[in-house]
Amino acid sequence: MGYHYDDQNIFAKILRGEIPSEPLLDTEHSLAFRDIRPQAPTHVLVIPKGPYVCYDHFAQDASDAEIVDFTRALGSMCKELGVAGNGWRMIANAGADAVQEVPHMHVHILAGRSLGRMLEPAS
Ligand code: 5GP
Repeated sequence: MGYHYDDQNIFAKILRGEIPSEPLLDTEHSLAFRDIRPQAPTHVLVIPKGPYVCYDHFAQDASDAEIVDFTRALGSMCKELGVAGNGWRMIANAGADAVQEVPHMHVHILAGRSLGRMLEPAS
């Protein structure tokens, strides 16, 4: 199945500067900023600048340069946020079953409290 990228999503608007953001990190191919509705004391989003819907789309179609840049951006953010001590979690929601809200690839970095087990039982 092909991926369709909707360039009217909120992160695309942030990348185009149509919506203000306060980047924590801005590299050639990636951007990081705080989640507007934080679910932990540290809740940061790392996104590629390219038009990818979700992580699997990115992992399949992004260039090596974009993938290296994104991975290094995530590493830089983890270092800057100091998550290594007590631990952290990364989440990449993709599609309906994962309840992905924004259809632009992003990874959540969550830290600063006990995050519980990986998944709650399905309700
Ligand atoms: P998803 O469910 O797609 O993985 O998560 C999308 C995340 O984007 C949510 O945690 C939500 O709070 C965050 N978000 C949605 N709109 C905005 C926005 O305009 N600015 C920022 N910084 N975060 C947003």
